Amino acid sequence: MATTQKHEKKPLHLAKLHVHRGDTVLVLTGKDRGKRGTVQRAMPRENKVIVEGVNIAKKHMKAGRGMAAGIIEKAMPLHASNVMVICTECGKPTRIGHEHVASDADEKERVRRVCKQCGQLIQEHTRD
Ligand SMILES: [Zn+2]
Repeated sequence: MATTQKHEKKPLHLAKLHVHRGDTVLVLTGKDRGKRGTVQRAMPRENKVIVEGVNIAKKHMKAGRGMAAGIIEKAMPLHASNVMVICTECGKPTRIGHEHVASDADEKERVRRVCKQCGQLIQEHTRD
């Protein structure tokens, strides 16, 4: 049987998301449109994010070893383009700007994520 890959994964060096783990995001589409939540996991290679309490799938579990039967609620991945980061400074959903700054301290290039609404720095991290 031939196996076909459903989703083509991007090479890791091209895999960059505007959404990071720990960001608060607004959901733009789907059944949870308008909900806000914290990003539990970013999946840059799939362009997806898992947001706490959003896109919940209910799984019915049979009783197993040491486990009672029941319903497990699990947050399923959303496409990253369907969420917008909420700025920690101004509280608005915003596009994120990236500024590259060289640091004298350790000569590592840093990336600053800034809010396009208020211009505040959201996060700074070193480039990997
Ligand atoms: Zn802002």
